[in-house]
Amino acid sequence: MSRRKQIYEGKAKILYEGPEPGTLVQYFKDDATAFNAQKKATLDGKGVLNNRISEFVMLRLAEIGIPTHFIRRLNMREQLIKKVEIIPLEVICRNIAAGTMAKRLGMKEGEKLPRSIVEFCLKRDDLGDPLIAEEHIYAFGWAAQSEIDEIIAMTLRINDFLQGMFAGVGIRLVDFKIEFGRLPHPDGMGGHMVILADEISPDSCRLWDMETDKKLDKDRFRRDLGEVTEAYTEVATRLGILKPNPTAGATLSVGSSND
Ligand code: 5GP
Repeated sequence: MSRRKQIYEGKAKILYEGPEPGTLVQYFKDDATAFNAQKKATLDGKGVLNNRISEFVMLRLAEIGIPTHFIRRLNMREQLIKKVEIIPLEVICRNIAAGTMAKRLGMKEGEKLPRSIVEFCLKRDDLGDPLIAEEHIYAFGWAAQSEIDEIIAMTLRINDFLQGMFAGVGIRLVDFKIEFGRLPHPDGMGGHMVILADEISPDSCRLWDMETDKKLDKDRFRRDLGEVTEAYTEVATRLGILKPNPTAGATLSVGSSND
């Protein structure tokens, strides 16, 4: 790991130069942050769980034709991804009122929305990723209208698919955040295509148990509810990624080695 050139270190991930041109290695850390990094902790095994859950989701999305940056998982904490030009937007899709939207609009958490809503935030940690309007995106040239049309269509398809996938294992998909990137179009005509370029894991989704409304996501950390990795393990187990182990919880090796 240390032999490779580090390209970027984020709050929960590190990007290294990949083995071939146009690739990167994405390393999932155990670090958790919230409230614009004012709250920090290390959660043993979180990176391993998010790597596995995100791999699972990316493979399922590829099966339904969503282009993603995921190439393959390399080991317990790393995956090989395509290098893209990141579009500086956080795209949030919501099915149920929660978090900042519930607060902003004075809604009760848990209220079902009349339809799924897609929101845009500007990716700017120093400003706390502010909510923006589509107009800002075009006026400031962060993305073209055709790209946003594609992003909205892809986000809603991802939402439909994930809602069904999680419902199948008794989990309600409340909301999630994704990011997109640009890649030169494979037709070689000089254009670009937009692809999903983010993890999808309990760090970036709100996931509630359908029967009990128990939170199985990063809100357990944000709101000091405890048992954070246990909740992530539960998600991985229900999705069939980990084998249930009746005596010691789901089986997962979280050693610091790279495999
Ligand atoms: P909210 O705006 O309510 O805080 O978040 C909406 C959804 O987007 C939640 O599922 C939350 O986990 C996700 N989300 C929002 N901002 C971020 C972020 O900076 N990082 C990650 N990983 N997820 C985020």
